[in-house]
Amino acid sequence: MTNPKSKPVKAAREASCGRMQPPGLDDILVRFGECAKTAIDPCPAFGVKDRQIMVYFRDLVLAFSGHLSVNVAAQGRISTTAMAKQKFNGFERRAFWEAHNQCCAYCSTPLPYDGIEIDHILAESLLNDNELKLKSLNEHGLDQNFDLTSYENLVPACARCNGDKRALTIIRAHLVLTVAKDKAAKVKDLVEKFKRDNKVGKLKLAIVGAIDTGEMTDQELIEFVEANKKTFPLVGFIQLLGDDPIGEVSHEHYEEYLDRRIYIDDEQTPLRLTNDNDETRDVCTLCQYLDATEAGYYAYSNADMKNAMWLFERPLEVLKIVSTSKVPEKSFIRTPRVGVNDLHLIPAELFLIGDLTPPEEEDVAAIYGDKSVQDLIEQHGAKVIRSSSNSITIELEQQDLFIYIAEIMRVDADGDGIEDLIIDCGGGPRTGTFRNYEIVVLRRTSNDDKFQIWQA
Ligand SMILES: [Zn+2]
Repeated sequence: MTNPKSKPVKAAREASCGRMQPPGLDDILVRFGECAKTAIDPCPAFGVKDRQIMVYFRDLVLAFSGHLSVNVAAQGRISTTAMAKQKFNGFERRAFWEAHNQCCAYCSTPLPYDGIEIDHILAESLLNDNELKLKSLNEHGLDQNFDLTSYENLVPACARCNGDKRALTIIRAHLVLTVAKDKAAKVKDLVEKFKRDNKVGKLKLAIVGAIDTGEMTDQELIEFVEANKKTFPLVGFIQLLGDDPIGEVSHEHYEEYLDRRIYIDDEQTPLRLTNDNDETRDVCTLCQYLDATEAGYYAYSNADMKNAMWLFERPLEVLKIVSTSKVPEKSFIRTPRVGVNDLHLIPAELFLIGDLTPPEEEDVAAIYGDKSVQDLIEQHGAKVIRSSSNSITIELEQQDLFIYIAEIMRVDADGDGIEDLIIDCGGGPRTGTFRNYEIVVLRRTSNDDKFQIWQA
């Protein structure tokens, strides 16, 4: 398809105004941007999977880097070194402004965006005088490790309030510190969001540019989007979108999944992680969880471990699978439909997932071998304790073990074109509180075979 300069963009824009046939370019760009975003900058947990898409976009982006700066400047994290005057990038300034409802934190005057100053509640100059700093922290009942450059000590202020700090009483400062602490997580979330939005915006521009100069046709764009639109129905309940179970999981909504709040109870308690120095960090989104675990934090108590596994690790694992999954071309699980209740097809090795003390290799072979769960029932006295159409719980008394397996979705997870079964697999000793949960991919590559556990 030939592509004279500018014409497709114009045509598509007219289409998006509703006069011509869909799809509108704007709509496509929104979706394309989402694909591009996950392709170019995958969340660390997903890794770089689809190299082809990566290369395609890299080329596209490079082709236009001459007149577009696609790399978001890595203006970074707040410096924790003392002396230099702290600088703030535009993302932070906007985040403070929005998190505080566009008002001065001291006098509540509404502020225009370009009218805000980012203010250190406890003066930045205290960094140069340790004695005075400790005295001041003490006055406010703050820990001596309190970071004066952290979001908990920063608020947006009008020029007047920022300029006249002598008028700030201890009580007033204390109040504003409470507000800052309250808003800190929100500011952090917004900074991350603005950075991502910015990157997507620039990518969209690059794509418009590519179409504009004929580097890519709008047909190619549409085909690409269609080929990469991956939405998979979910059978199992995954707490990705707050309290609402969702019926499907898709590529396009990664950012939403990663940023939605997840609490461990109805009181909106975040998950508390600990590090080796006994410091704690509270997390309530998948992104925060990833950041924290990367920084060496982990769930400590049995209850926290269970919450971490069930509410954070498990959805991340599902997203990771979705990120590489394809729409299957063939299926040996659809007609006739088979699933977790077909015990003669389910590998007995799944019991190993729940086992606290994995048996010796000979024992594994003897007990599980390439047996099915049905074999365990017939030969080793395993029992079905509960079952529903998509889940089943089985006990293996001899080994003091139980497993729970439940279907989550059906996709081609390993890229061989054949539909796989994605399941929750949980287990542990029948007597005891230890529980392990994993997301397992079960492959079935012919109508005569059992399921096999797929190791990514
Ligand atoms: Zn003010």
